[in-house]
Amino acid sequence: MVVAEGLQAGGLGRAMRIAEFQRLIEAIYYEKDKGRGSAGTFRWFVEEVGELAGALREEDRDRAAEEFADVFAWLSTLASIHGVELEEAVGKYASGCPKCGSAPCRCEG
Ligand SMILES: [Zn+2]
Repeated sequence: MVVAEGLQAGGLGRAMRIAEFQRLIEAIYYEKDKGRGSAGTFRWFVEEVGELAGALREEDRDRAAEEFADVFAWLSTLASIHGVELEEAVGKYASGCPKCGSAPCRCEG
C-alpha cells in the first residue's frame, strides 16, 4: 500500500510504502521509543493528536500536514513497539469496509 506519491522517500523522489515508512521510523526512533515504553510513547502520540486538532481547528493546511505526519510517525512507532506490522494490519480494509464489505461503506450510521 502506497503512503504518498511524490514523497521524498529517502531522497529517492518516489512513493513510500507503509512498511518502508515503518522501517524508516524504526531506524530513526525505535531504540529511544522502545526504551521509553508503550505508555510514555502513547502519551506522545496523543499529544501529537492534540496538535493536529489545533491545526485543523485553525484551518492551517500546511501545519495540519506536518501534524498528520507526526501522528502517523508516532502511530508507526507504537505499532513497532507492539510488534504490529502496519502494512499487514491495514490489509483488513483491502476489500472495502471490514463490516459490510462495501466501498463506499453501507453500514448504518
Ligand atoms: Zn460498512
